[in-house]
Amino acid sequence: MENVANRPVEDLPFTPEVARETAPLYAKVAHVIPEIEWPVHAPYVAAINRLKRERGAVILGHNYMTPEIFNCVSDYVGDSLQLAREAARTDAKIIVQAGVHFMAETSKVLSPDKTVLIPDPLAGCSLAASITGADVRLLRQKYPGLPVVTYVNTSAEVKAESDVCCTSSNAVAVVEDIARERGADTVIMIPDEYLAQNVAKQTKIKIVAWKGRCEVHERFTAEDIRGYREANPGVVVLAHPECPPEVVAECDFAGSTSAMIGYVGKHRPGRVVLVTECSMSDNVAVEFPDVEFVRPCNLCPHMKRITLPKILHSLQTMTYEVTVDSAVAARARAAVERMLAVGKPQMLQAAE
Ligand code: SF4
Repeated sequence: MENVANRPVEDLPFTPEVARETAPLYAKVAHVIPEIEWPVHAPYVAAINRLKRERGAVILGHNYMTPEIFNCVSDYVGDSLQLAREAARTDAKIIVQAGVHFMAETSKVLSPDKTVLIPDPLAGCSLAASITGADVRLLRQKYPGLPVVTYVNTSAEVKAESDVCCTSSNAVAVVEDIARERGADTVIMIPDEYLAQNVAKQTKIKIVAWKGRCEVHERFTAEDIRGYREANPGVVVLAHPECPPEVVAECDFAGSTSAMIGYVGKHRPGRVVLVTECSMSDNVAVEFPDVEFVRPCNLCPHMKRITLPKILHSLQTMTYEVTVDSAVAARARAAVERMLAVGKPQMLQAAE
């Protein structure tokens, strides 16, 4: 496989025409991207938006993309499941996934007739890499009859071995629904150990967890949260439930990236800290300039593999196409659709 990190970046000039064309976009991101950086991004933003229109493609931008990708070239933004649903809804035949590989697979699973491209095929995920389809089959042998609930941050192969998928927003509801349906008092929940522990605190259903962890969220500590509060009196702390349970216990609210954005939009806290990946605060700050974001964060090295030059290259060369075996895709789709039938997401920890 080509190592895209070593490919020379095309040098595009910042011409007066590019400056004019991209000025409205820069106005949108001016308070999160310094003016001195814009001449580097703007030529790619202009070239991507032109080529995207010519090809009839759409770009799906995850909440963890850098602000120039999230705000200036993405047609749809959101968490992985929202993006996969947009992929299925759009009339566009070409989808560029500005996110990591399992997200592109989920888009392909829900849109088997569309061409799904990922700008860097090495954009992985520590959670998705922690478990294989064979591991799930072994778990089923070890715990016969227990339903398997699988977080969406997994490969299509793992989803295909599962009874139902879940997100960080609907995990409690999904666990309780499948347990009720199967008459089980215990479920297997994979692969995120911390998400499973956070869910277990909110349900009577017993949970057998896997040892997967998000390498970004596992690094936050309860002491970090106490430090943010001490340094920023009155700050509202929102955390992703991939964080350790003792971190979630110190926070005011825990939910998926979209749930965190929803919280900020609804409550408009004066000052907030998002305990998650670094780019989230920049992207949410663009939408809510009146909210002050305290910005301690951890970078996801996989998400940061996606850059404007790689997105342009992806559109120019129609690479790297993501494929999923049709039988695997059908079974994975059934697990995702089973989750969607469970209904409205419930937040892991209500703030009020
Ligand atoms: S932030 Fe964590 S869960 Fe998301 S892609 Fe990176 S490693 Fe995976």
